[in-house]
Amino acid sequence: MKYISTRGTAAVLEFDDVLLAGLGRDGGLYVPESWPQFDAAKLEQLEALSYSQLAFQIIKPFVGDSVTDEDLKRILEGAYTNFDTEEAVALKEIGENEYLLELFHGPTIAFKDMAMQVLGPMFDQVLKQKNQRITIVGATSGDTGSAAIEACRDRDAMDIFILYPEGRVSDVQRKQMTTVKADNVHCIAIKGTFDDCQDMVKALFNDDEFRDKWNLSAVNSINWARIVAQIVYYFWAALQVGGTDKPVSFAVPTGNFGNVFAGYCAYKMGLPIKKLIVGANSNDILSRFFDSGTMEMKGVHPTISPSMDIQVSSNFERLLFDLYERDGAAVKESIDIFRETGKFNVSEAQLKQARKLFDSAHFDDIEIKAMIAQVLDESCVLLDPHSAVGVAAGRAKRGNTKTPIISLATAHPAKFPDAVKDASGQHPELPEHMRYLFELDEKTDVLENDLDKVRAHIVTTLEGNA
Ligand SMILES: *Cc1c(COP(=O)(O)O)cnc(C)c1O
Repeated sequence: MKYISTRGTAAVLEFDDVLLAGLGRDGGLYVPESWPQFDAAKLEQLEALSYSQLAFQIIKPFVGDSVTDEDLKRILEGAYTNFDTEEAVALKEIGENEYLLELFHGPTIAFKDMAMQVLGPMFDQVLKQKNQRITIVGATSGDTGSAAIEACRDRDAMDIFILYPEGRVSDVQRKQMTTVKADNVHCIAIKGTFDDCQDMVKALFNDDEFRDKWNLSAVNSINWARIVAQIVYYFWAALQVGGTDKPVSFAVPTGNFGNVFAGYCAYKMGLPIKKLIVGANSNDILSRFFDSGTMEMKGVHPTISPSMDIQVSSNFERLLFDLYERDGAAVKESIDIFRETGKFNVSEAQLKQARKLFDSAHFDDIEIKAMIAQVLDESCVLLDPHSAVGVAAGRAKRGNTKTPIISLATAHPAKFPDAVKDASGQHPELPEHMRYLFELDEKTDVLENDLDKVRAHIVTTLEGNA
């Protein structure tokens, strides 16, 4: 399988190089040259498989010759073993033809584990094949950092540095990062905001000498391998609920557009999907886009669903590429205009095309809390605020109840205990495997918001480890 960039001019790469490269050299995102196809007969063969067997069938065509079938099978058989469910995910009925797909049964209790637990061993495999070592550097506002650390801990061919804003992530989120005891894991609390952390990571990647010397790599949400691993649960849920011929709809709490884009990939591969409903919080840039065809920045508001407090959804560019009939120059032009003016729009025809599959709705914190209380009352299921956005969006936009709607639950309620308690009166308990989280020792380095100091700290740490 070959991969091309959404801006049309970066080198065409195989899967292993896309995995390590992250972003294309032209600033674009990698997408597959064509979509593997699953017709009804093929879908039927998938129905009886376990989750990791299904993952192998879905992921294999995207990996091509980059990893042998034997190695890929081994990676996927191991990836979901420390999840607290039998099949990595759980499906619950919460209303008439309405389902909740729980994606938070991995080690850090948010859906990021679904992809990260595959990404970690995949990196290991490819690095071993190429005889390389990498340094992963990332910034987190909460969920991504802990999922990345869990996926990369104790792996020989990599060190991982995660920058987070001191005092601005929740206690659970911080402890999930700082209590991991592994020589290759390094947490850095920055005296600044998440944006400061992210700017520093960008600056480190733009420092060519540093980047090349330490072989910097990223596991952020534009990494294609993360999207691939997320396609699997769309197939899993649709086959369970609708079978091979009855279309289903999905409602997806959305931030960077990575999760819902995986649903789009499943659709392109032949899975019968009727609607993909994008759920947003008060940061409603995507939902304004799907209503009007105009993408316009308006600044970020903090909400009780912080993992969706995003201004610009980086993975949206992948959808734009298809809406523009894979014209990389046109994508680049729109993105340049967006950067300069904070705004761009697609044509009437392109909006109509997008709306054939996508719809969207947004909710403020009060509505989200009301949805948490309502679902608890109706079906004794306690949702976290992100998952509540998904359910609310599904209910608002599903249309008739004949087509099953599957809402994706992206975090365990105990990850956001204050908002959940406030909404429902119930204090959500951490799952069994995290019971002792608050008793473990924390290890983190606290640094000034100063690029030179952070860079020097990383170098000293790496030289000390070598
Ligand atoms: C990351 C995250 C999201 C948003 O997912 P995207 O792929 O960025 O759209 C939603 N909910 C939770 C809990 C998350 O951690």
